[in-house]
This record gives sequence, C-alpha cells and structure tokens, in this order.
Amino acid sequence: MPAKSISPTAKAGSRFAAPHFEGPDSLRERAGMSHIATTILATPSASVSYENSEGRRVYVNSRLIPEFNWYLIVQQAQSSAEARVLGALLLNIGVALAIAALVGAIGWVAVRNYQSNLEQMAGTDALTGCTTRRVFEAIFEQVRKNALRNDAPLSLLAIDIDHFKQINDRHGHAAGDLVLYTLTDIFRSHLRDNDTLCRWGGDEFLILLGDCTLPNAIRVADAIRAAVACHTIRPADHAIACTISVGAAEYKPGEDLRALVARADLAMYTAKRDGRDQVSKA
Ligand code: GH3
Ligand code: MG
Repeated sequence: MPAKSISPTAKAGSRFAAPHFEGPDSLRERAGMSHIATTILATPSASVSYENSEGRRVYVNSRLIPEFNWYLIVQQAQSSAEARVLGALLLNIGVALAIAALVGAIGWVAVRNYQSNLEQMAGTDALTGCTTRRVFEAIFEQVRKNALRNDAPLSLLAIDIDHFKQINDRHGHAAGDLVLYTLTDIFRSHLRDNDTLCRWGGDEFLILLGDCTLPNAIRVADAIRAAVACHTIRPADHAIACTISVGAAEYKPGEDLRALVARADLAMYTAKRDGRDQVSKA
C-alpha cells in the first residue's frame, strides 16, 4: 500500500522554499518508529508515541487522506518544559489522591468510633453499667437460640429492691442512686461470663443465667439475696441496710421473653407478698 509521510519540516514537491524531506522513505526504517508503523498504516487515524534516539518522547498523529491514499503524519517531540509540567501534574494528582485517601480513612475511623460510642451508650445503663432493656431483648434471643440448639437449660431472675421509695425518702435520691450502684456490683460478683445483668426499669433488675436449671438459679438468687441483706451501704454519715425480693423462672421451649419475664415477675411479687427478703420460684 503506497503511503507517504509529511513531517513538519518537509513538504515534498512544493514550489515554496521549504527543505525537502530527508530520511528513509519507509516509516518502518525511521528511528524509533518501526514498532508504531503498523498501527499508523493499519488505521485511518492514530495517536501514538515513541521514544527518539535522544530519549525524548515523540507524539505522532496520523490521518489517512483517501483521495490521495496518503497518510498525513504530524509529530511533535516533548520538550523538557512539558515533561516538567507533566511531572508536576502527576505529582499533584498523586498528592491529591493521597490526601483524599487519608481524609477518607480519618473520617471512616471517626464515624466508626462515634457509632460504637453511641451503641455502647444506648446499650448500657448510665448509672449502673447494666445492659439496657433493648439490648437485653436482643441478647435473650441469641442465648435462647443457643440454649435450644444445645438442649441446655436457661433461667431468669427478676430482682426488685424492697421499700426502695423509703430509702429515697429517708436518705435522699443520691443515696438511692448509690444503693442501685452498689447492689448491681453485688449482683455482678455472683455472675459467670455467660450470664447477663439488665436494669429492667427503676429498681427492678433481670439476670439471665445461661446453662442454668431452676434449682441452680434459686441457689444463685439466694446467695445474692443473702449478700445484699448482710451489706450496709454508707453514704456520708448514713447507714443503709436494704433487702431484695427475687423471683426465679426456668425457660420453657416455645416461650418468648415477655412470657418468661411475666412468670419471674409473678414469683417476685409472691416473694414480696410473703414478707420480702426472699426468693420465690415460678
Ligand atoms: P417494694 O418493696 O414494693 O418494691 O417497694 P418500693 O418502694 O421499692 O416500690 P417500687 O419498687 O415501686 O419503687 C421504686 C422506686 O424507685 C420509685 C422511684 O422513685 C425509685 N427510682 C426509680 N429509678 C430510680 C433511680 O434511678 N434513682 C433513684 N434514686 N431512685 C429511683
Ligand atoms: Mg422496689
């Protein structure tokens, strides 16, 4: 296929005083162009580049002129100033991408921390550090499924402080808060890793005892009751002795949390009615 090339410095056959094209007629023989010649000649228009003998990049644009079956080829060597600008541009893009990645990473860590703090706050009672009702419901579901899968017993204690209103009235609300805080510490000291302590509301607490039968739950409940009864809380110059009433219930397959709590509550109210400071079973 006949093909002619015109470089910016050559205009063959012109009657103007431009110098004749010097160099080999064949593109393939031109220094550096051998590997792009096929690309140029195989397509009606191409934009390619090659490195010349001085190590500079030369950009080549070609276009087929079908009427003459000529190729118009324009080439331009990259100047060192352009190379510097290109280098600076690439450097800027690199720095911008690095900053964007850094800002993104910092934002992601901050949002994650904020989210986990919020979750922690929503799931923990601020005064006692006990699990809140909402999170307890989710934990119960998980523990219940595990218990059913492993055919393991599961029990619940419902604990209510006796005459807590009187404690508040006699010693003040802050002393009442100290009682709540101290008693939950006593409860915790009797629990194992797979037990969960929840502040169900006001002065009522639930303890979910994993892998625990009703007789064992009653033993744990009575140990907690005795520990509370023999403890004196001393805010400033006060001395507060308090007791708790406890209802114990073992989970029955098919039962939901509401039904289990209702049975444990009923047992707890029986303990209240029978004189307080005692454990009653559902
Ligand atoms: P009972 O033996 O029948 O349970 O009598 P009670 O006085 O304990 O009666 P109840 O359980 O109904 O009283 C709960 C009281 O707990 C009422 C409320 O003022 C008090 N209370 C609830 N939340 C808090 C709290 O966060 N801090 C303090 N100090 N008191 C609280
Ligand atoms: Mg009470």
